[in-house]
Amino acid sequence: MTRSPRHGDAPLVVAIDGPAGSGKSSVSKEVAARLGFAFLDTGAAYRALTWFAISRGIDVTDADAVVEAAADFDYRTEAEAGRQLVFVGDTDVTAAIREPEVSARVSAVARVPEVRSRLNELFRGILRETQCDGIVAEGRDITTVVAPDAPVRILLTAGPEVRAARRAGELGSQHAEDVARQLDARDRADLQVVDFMTAADGVTTVDSTDLDFEETVDAVIEVIRAAGFAGAEAASRGGTDA
Ligand code: C5P
Repeated sequence: MTRSPRHGDAPLVVAIDGPAGSGKSSVSKEVAARLGFAFLDTGAAYRALTWFAISRGIDVTDADAVVEAAADFDYRTEAEAGRQLVFVGDTDVTAAIREPEVSARVSAVARVPEVRSRLNELFRGILRETQCDGIVAEGRDITTVVAPDAPVRILLTAGPEVRAARRAGELGSQHAEDVARQLDARDRADLQVVDFMTAADGVTTVDSTDLDFEETVDAVIEVIRAAGFAGAEAASRGGTDA
């Protein structure tokens, strides 16, 4: 028996976490598109808050100042032509939040407990209020902290070399070794806050080390299908099934 995506009034939440470079962002986005679900990129909110703190001239290692900034943080996203635009107030920060300056400081912001609880409330509101049948939510602690009761929870992993090579490919200009070093530093800092390298109880691991993008998307959709959700069947294999 298959369940319809929307069970009761609540949208189906598919929670995906994992380390940087595991493909979780691009894979989650594609899975959401194939299923006609909304998409929540929690990292984008941490990045946007970091951008906001920097733009106010705040030293991000000053936790009190960061908490103060978080109280004024006006965050919003908009879907446009398959892209997610990120705004802080009226400013479009979609590109700015991917700059190295933000990547280098985001872990310091994300480590502040008050910041995490504030953003977690924001995320839970987005999960509740989505107008779609379901929502794919990705981030370091989605399966364990933000949505531990989500009906589908997945840990997306990949070997360290593969993760570094993928990130290098995404960034283009930087040397793979530099990227590997930066990734490693960010993962190490982030790991002190949440363990996103091991699957919690009830979380299904998808290891993408030997899978290409399409195969990884299919593997994730297969987990959703195996959990018994209608709609996931036709969405696999590139969504080409009639
Ligand atoms: O996913 P992404 O690499 O864009 O996340 C940027 C940063 O935001 C992470 O390195 C981490 O410090 C923080 N983050 C977090 N918890 C999440 C998502 C992101 O701490 N759920």
